[in-house]
Amino acid sequence: MTAAADATRELLSFDKEHLWHPYTSMTTPLPVYAVASASGVHLELCDGRRLIDGMSSWWAALHGYNHPELNRALQEQAGRMSHIMFGGLTHAPAVELGRLLVALTPAPLQKVFLCDSGSVSVEVAMKMAMQYWVASGQPQRKKFLTIRSGYHGDTFNAMSVCDPVTSMHGMFRGALPENYFADAPGCRFGEDCSDACMGSFAALLDAHSDSLAAVIAEPIVQGAGGMRFYSAAHLRKMRELCDQYGVLLILDEIATGFGRTGKLFACEHAGIAPDILCVGKALTGGMMSLAATLASTEVAEGISRNGGVFMHGPTFMGNPLACAVACASIRLLLDSPWEERVRRIEDALRDGLMPCREMPGVHDVRALGAIGVVEMREPVDVAAMQRRFVDRGVWIRPFGKLVYVMPPLVMGMDDLSMLTRALVDTVAEEGVHVG
Ligand code: PMP
Repeated sequence: MTAAADATRELLSFDKEHLWHPYTSMTTPLPVYAVASASGVHLELCDGRRLIDGMSSWWAALHGYNHPELNRALQEQAGRMSHIMFGGLTHAPAVELGRLLVALTPAPLQKVFLCDSGSVSVEVAMKMAMQYWVASGQPQRKKFLTIRSGYHGDTFNAMSVCDPVTSMHGMFRGALPENYFADAPGCRFGEDCSDACMGSFAALLDAHSDSLAAVIAEPIVQGAGGMRFYSAAHLRKMRELCDQYGVLLILDEIATGFGRTGKLFACEHAGIAPDILCVGKALTGGMMSLAATLASTEVAEGISRNGGVFMHGPTFMGNPLACAVACASIRLLLDSPWEERVRRIEDALRDGLMPCREMPGVHDVRALGAIGVVEMREPVDVAAMQRRFVDRGVWIRPFGKLVYVMPPLVMGMDDLSMLTRALVDTVAEEGVHVG
């Protein structure tokens, strides 16, 4: 065995013994693969294999990896200052990022809170909504209404509005705030939405509006809670009902933001604006952990009424390195033909995944923007499927019944076709062994 192979074996062995990976057991962990480097749309494994990345590091790496302009932004900022506290101090990268976010997001969103990760930005959004009502003399409004099949993060308040089944609410009973869950939208993207489809949402809003701080939802695409694409009309009706009952609307665009669904922000499909918006993931093109919560002037001024202050302030708030990279990533995106790229990826995913429709273990195949989903009838064997994907030279990580890809927007047609072919062939082989 070579020295390099020895080193990889040792690395994997320490990892297995000591490092927790997302959603895994410490005693029977799923296998992990050691990555030496990543560049463009490829991950280079320590054993020399090269994989086409179908996951964009969980929705984040829009421009691929090791992008020279993002690297330059990071290095130049590191030469000036890596971090300073945001309490009482400010800096150009934060102001520049604030300018970009205010300009690009729907008009009512004017006030920006910079924070560390998606889950934290959801916590911040929920706290903003609660504080708004405290300041408005209705402190009892501390509940949230959401839709089933949602996902908003792994911290406690965020978990309390995730789908109760997939986020295992039962396990945290007593510790988790109890919120209200309407049926997941029954309508699909591109379809209309009937009044019946809004029934459970409208009924819960009607019954509980006096205790509700806000409705919270992922617009158009429900990500980790089910990879469902729902009708813009449903989202529009949620906005209308929130207005009718005087309840705030929080939209979580942490997965959908920055072009993934074919619009810069998914709420644009419905032509609506939330009162509070969460962004993260692709905010830095996947290079650094950074998120933001944007609030309307009305919400921000409400919270600040009579000397009120917003009670949140993480140590790494407004980190200059992350802000500088985010500015570079957003500029890179806006200067690219991203809409055309997303359209081509959507077409390639729809065509490329089509053969799965006929397979016996497959329940549904769908594509929207740069997201392609094959939903199986039964949960897949993640480890076995992943091994086959790696053997075929692609990186795809299924979960539950879902085998899905959301490639970097810069992926060329040849790599895309290898990615979809590997997915189709693997589902054909492995899909028959599901369960
Ligand atoms: N909201 C949505 C819609 C997400 O997809 C995620 C991450 N998968 C989060 C919130 C949580 O973000 P983070 O993992 O950065 O805490």
